[in-house]
Amino acid sequence: MTASIQRPSIYEQEHEDFRQSVRTFLEKEVVPHHHQWEKDGQVSREVWQRAGAAGLLCFDVDEEYGGAGVRDFRYNTVVAEEMARVGASGPGFPVHSDIIVPYISSLGTPEQKRRWLPGLVSGELISAIAMTEPGAGSDLQGIRTSAVFEPGRDCYVLNGSKTFISNGILSDVVIVVCRTDPDAGHKGISLLVVERGMKGFERGRNLEKVGMKAQDTAELFFDDVEVPKENLLGEEGSGFISLMMNLPQERISIAAMAVAAIEQVLDLSLAYAKERQAFGRPIGSFQHNRFVLAEMATNAHVARVFVNDCILKLNAGEVDTTLAAMAKWWTTELQKQVVDAGVQLHGGYGYMLEYPIAKAFTDSRIQTIYGGTTEIQKEIIGRSLGI
Ligand SMILES: Cc1cc2nc3c(=O)[nH]c(=O)nc-3n(C[C@H](O)[C@H](O)[C@H](O)COP(=O)(O)OP(=O)(O)OC[C@H]3O[C@@H](n4cnc5c(N)ncnc54)[C@H](O)[C@@H]3O)c2cc1C
Repeated sequence: MTASIQRPSIYEQEHEDFRQSVRTFLEKEVVPHHHQWEKDGQVSREVWQRAGAAGLLCFDVDEEYGGAGVRDFRYNTVVAEEMARVGASGPGFPVHSDIIVPYISSLGTPEQKRRWLPGLVSGELISAIAMTEPGAGSDLQGIRTSAVFEPGRDCYVLNGSKTFISNGILSDVVIVVCRTDPDAGHKGISLLVVERGMKGFERGRNLEKVGMKAQDTAELFFDDVEVPKENLLGEEGSGFISLMMNLPQERISIAAMAVAAIEQVLDLSLAYAKERQAFGRPIGSFQHNRFVLAEMATNAHVARVFVNDCILKLNAGEVDTTLAAMAKWWTTELQKQVVDAGVQLHGGYGYMLEYPIAKAFTDSRIQTIYGGTTEIQKEIIGRSLGI
């Protein structure tokens, strides 16, 4: 008996049409190169430009700045789902479109938008956001990168270092979270846009990771970088609040990727359990394995319903910090459990990187760490409960 998995959907025909074009793009422009990019530790710049030309980046940017002006996060999640389906963890499109560019769209002046948005939409410019430092990750208020305004030169002088920055090597436009007032607590944090080629801005190592090997994750160094005051994003001192306002979308984006990965793992595991024989039977016919797959399918369904609801709420402007924290920690912890069970079902082959399940395993490990760890999400939820 063949059976197909029915997935609760929030997509309409236009999203499914878009999905087809994303799928065609990935099969032609990403899948054939991914293995080489994993060896290189980064994707090519060309794939960014091709993604831009194919209309896959930053749909929400207004038409006057080169975007499609479509504010419907379902298009973003279609891209995330299709990338997960083929294990394309290299191109940092989601972090660019869902997380970083929205800061420029929402906080930028018209002049800043004219300068950066068209290139970010076309893929000519690649973005990064630099919050984490060697000494401060979860505790964002502990950052030490400083920017001192020099009225004589009409610029900020930026000093410090960042680490673990996604798109760190390829990026042309980096939103740097820095301290503009050492004595003002969270009100002393600002966002400065640092551009490729600015004197004193250097990249360090492209860090060697457990998974996501085709995505560049790098150290950045700022040594007396003169950043023009025109590159201040939002008001001075409002950086922390801006980050808090944008983090829910980042977390829903990560949750959407988690659910897409869970569904991919279910598909891979089910296919393998039907095909692989042991003791003269398909391994999926052993009751234990059937139960593992039944649990996986149930978890995938529940997670999908939850995240679908979050995506619709995000579209309606109804996602608060607490809901985003719930979606982020719960789906990513579930992803780790499901992918681990998928590896077990694959036996020794599950440990071989040539099998997509093994790549899903190494790629998944970071999900509960970046974008705010599981523990930090639970702190946020705990606070909302008044404890
Ligand atoms: C592949 C990758 C990509 C990344 N991309 C980016 C990026 O693009 N930009 C960027 O700025 N950063 C990025 N990061 C950094 C990431 O966001 C941080 O690693 C993460 O926020 C955790 O910070 P940390 O590593 O300093 O851990 P720490 O903050 O030192 O935490 C260590 C452990 O202590 C726990 N902990 C800390 N505080 C508490 C608390 N109050 N209660 C309970 N437990 C606590 C944490 O949950 C964790 O388990 C990336 C990281 C990786 C690995």
